[in-house]
Amino acid sequence: MTDAQTPGSPSAGLEPRPHQRITPVPEHSREAALTVAVAAALTRGGVLAHVLQGCAQAVVEHLDAAFARVWTLNEAEQVLELQASAGMYTHLDGPHGRVPVGAFKIGMIASQRRPHLTNEVVADPRVSDHAWALREGMVAFAGYPLVVEGRLVGVMAMFARRPLSDATLDALGAVADGIALAVAREWMEQERDRALSDALEARQQAEEQAAELEMQAEELQTQALQLEEAQVELEMQAQELQQANEELGRGAERMGFMMDSMPQKVWTADAAGNVNFFNQRWLEYTGLSTEELRDWGWQRIIHPDDWDENLRVWQNSIATGDDFQLEHRFRRRDGAYRWHLSRGVAQRDGAGTIRMWVGTNTEIDEQKRNEQALRTSEARYRLVTRATNDVIWDWDLSTDELLWNETLETTFGYSPADVPPIIQFWYDHVHSEDRDRVVEGIHAVIDGGGETWSDGYRFLRTDGRYAEVLDRGIVNRDPSGTPLRMIGSMQDVTERRREEAERERLLSLARTERERLEQIFTAAPAVMAIYTGPDHVVTLVNPTWAETVGKPDAVGRPFREVFPEFAESGLFALLDEVYETGRPYVDPEVTVPMERWESGELEETSWNLVWLPLPAREGQAERDILVHAVEVTQQVRARRAVDAAREAAEDANRVKSGFLATMSHELRTPLNAMIGYTDLLQMGVPEPIPDGPREQVRRIGLSARHLLQLIEEILTFSRLEAGREVLQAEEVDLSEVVQEVRAILQPLASEKGLHFDLHHSEELSSMETDPRKLRQILINLVGNAVKFTEEGMVALSVRRDDGWIVFNVRDTGIGIDPEHLEAIFEPFQQVETERAKRAHGTGLGLSVSRRLTRLMGGELVVESTLGKGSTFTLRLPMRAAPMAQGEAP
Ligand code: ADP
Repeated sequence: MTDAQTPGSPSAGLEPRPHQRITPVPEHSREAALTVAVAAALTRGGVLAHVLQGCAQAVVEHLDAAFARVWTLNEAEQVLELQASAGMYTHLDGPHGRVPVGAFKIGMIASQRRPHLTNEVVADPRVSDHAWALREGMVAFAGYPLVVEGRLVGVMAMFARRPLSDATLDALGAVADGIALAVAREWMEQERDRALSDALEARQQAEEQAAELEMQAEELQTQALQLEEAQVELEMQAQELQQANEELGRGAERMGFMMDSMPQKVWTADAAGNVNFFNQRWLEYTGLSTEELRDWGWQRIIHPDDWDENLRVWQNSIATGDDFQLEHRFRRRDGAYRWHLSRGVAQRDGAGTIRMWVGTNTEIDEQKRNEQALRTSEARYRLVTRATNDVIWDWDLSTDELLWNETLETTFGYSPADVPPIIQFWYDHVHSEDRDRVVEGIHAVIDGGGETWSDGYRFLRTDGRYAEVLDRGIVNRDPSGTPLRMIGSMQDVTERRREEAERERLLSLARTERERLEQIFTAAPAVMAIYTGPDHVVTLVNPTWAETVGKPDAVGRPFREVFPEFAESGLFALLDEVYETGRPYVDPEVTVPMERWESGELEETSWNLVWLPLPAREGQAERDILVHAVEVTQQVRARRAVDAAREAAEDANRVKSGFLATMSHELRTPLNAMIGYTDLLQMGVPEPIPDGPREQVRRIGLSARHLLQLIEEILTFSRLEAGREVLQAEEVDLSEVVQEVRAILQPLASEKGLHFDLHHSEELSSMETDPRKLRQILINLVGNAVKFTEEGMVALSVRRDDGWIVFNVRDTGIGIDPEHLEAIFEPFQQVETERAKRAHGTGLGLSVSRRLTRLMGGELVVESTLGKGSTFTLRLPMRAAPMAQGEAP
């Protein structure tokens, strides 16, 4: 026990222990206890009959007597009168109420003044009523004459149902001596009191007589003499009393001697609590003298940690007179402290005043240690049950009581305080399908002498679901093998089972996946293989690999050896790099020479190739590279053919453009000469010509102009095609441009009877653009409008829209089929209709116009309704933004 656990002080961590603990008196100290109890009864004082009753009771209590009796001697009548009777008979007026000295065994003990002791009551001739003794099971009888200084004062006797030991008989003898002394003292006190009252009565009478018979001097004299005699008598009585007291003192000495010879530690203290006596056992135990221990000297043998509590209890008893009981440690002579149970009882006189204290101290060290060990192991058990996640149960097999720890609540939801503490609760919550098996199993272990049991089953939770549990128990048996209790622990393995199932599911999933992967590997139309280790040994190939690559015995050989024809390709170094860096190599087109089927010929092959390093497999140092390749030899060949054809076509185109440009230039010079001369002829230079030939000259001029326009368009187109058309932006007077266009086309419109409408707002004075190109586009658009319109009008309008100049060319002509709206911007595209006259164009005008527009940073679009007319809209930026170099028109 630690310092914190001195009696009465609160103790940390453990349950408070009862302040007073009842400890059975050890067998060997039965006599000691008797002696103390008798001593206590004797010293308590009061009416003699009560004192004797106390002694008889003590004998019955401490010696387990059937009954005990005390008779005192009526000296005058020589009759023993029953004064006290305890045990199975307590009446005083039965047949043994008055026993003449010499009669029966009691009277015989008195007359012979010798104790009579027997452990064979039934065989004893002195026992008168053998039938009674047999019936009551009496075994032992002990009777003692009560004798003081040769004077018989009474008899003490007892019957017991068990044999009495020598030690008991010795103790009884001492008790008898004590009782005899008490009776004798009582007698002497009675005699003294009687003598005193006699004397007082006599003196009173004498005084009365003296008062009445003053004259009767003689008489008075006589009375005085009588008084003197009475006083002498009184003195004698007093002397006798003195003697009796000395006797009593010697008796007390004998009591001390008795106490000394007791195996128990005994002490006495006066009413104020000053300890004045320690028996021999005490002195031996502590190695100290009475002088060292008396009064408060015993403090030195109390454990310092226990002292405060000890003092408190003892002072409380001194103050209140209450008995006390206390557990504390005393220091043995060797310095070791041992636990004792100490009791103290106040001894009172007839008036209830405390006369003294008597106490005993019983060593309980071993019990205390056992108790402590038990408490520690219980505490540990509680701690363990609290610390574990398992549900711990404790089943008392004799009562079927079953207790759970707190985990029952955290695991299954039941509060241990709320569930009935019986085994039935467990039975009831096991799944009905498991119950019979589980209950039979556990009982087979208990009844079959087994020690351990375990089982798995389903256990109902508070939420109505069943938990999968694993339960284990240990049977505890007494030495004869009888099962006493069973302690077990239950684990909720629902989660574990679920995880196991999940793992199983994932495993089978992985297996399926693996099979699928194998299928893919086998059935894939791509070449697939695994190269292993730094030498890239071909370890696995799929059927496609085997068929396509045409290396029948590749497996098991290094890459370099399988493909010696790759030596020049750089692939060996690349593959090493993939292996060392772990970075994949992807090339959609690797072209290498390859020899298939040992043909002896190198074939130019192309592959869409992936080399993918795989993470190292567990327990394997060498890494794998997954090969995935699709042969693209045919595609590469086809593409190369197409490329070659395109290049040839582009070359031809360039030649054609060059040819056209040259041709156009060569054609323009003679055409200009033709136009010049026809103009002169029409003007009558060098001389006027008649109307008929003049009309023919005009037509020659028109056709020449038309031809020139065509040549201009072709020239522009070829320049655009060749990317040689350059933008030459300048500030342009808009009205000038539109008037020019009008001047050129008004005559044609008028000729066809068409109204020519021109509309442009005055404030639109100028813009920055290439005027030649703008003019060319507008002439083309307005020209088309006139060309494809038979009646109605053509209109040209100009407006501004933010930073843009918007030109609209509208006509009421034949319109364009919606499905041709985009085609007309393609070069050499003309819409074939009855009304359109193909001969009048090249199909290049719109194509050239749109390309020029884009070159100038603008856009050209058309809206048209077949049969109703068309509107072309040209949008150009007000400020020329030259196009980036190389951006195609
Ligand atoms: P061309 O006028 O030399 O045939 P264009 O490229 O200028 O070549 O025009 C291509 C075709 O677009 C014309 O042949 C004609 O069918 C159609 N087209 C152009 N402008 C108009 C228009 N205003 N109305 C009807 N059709 C037109």
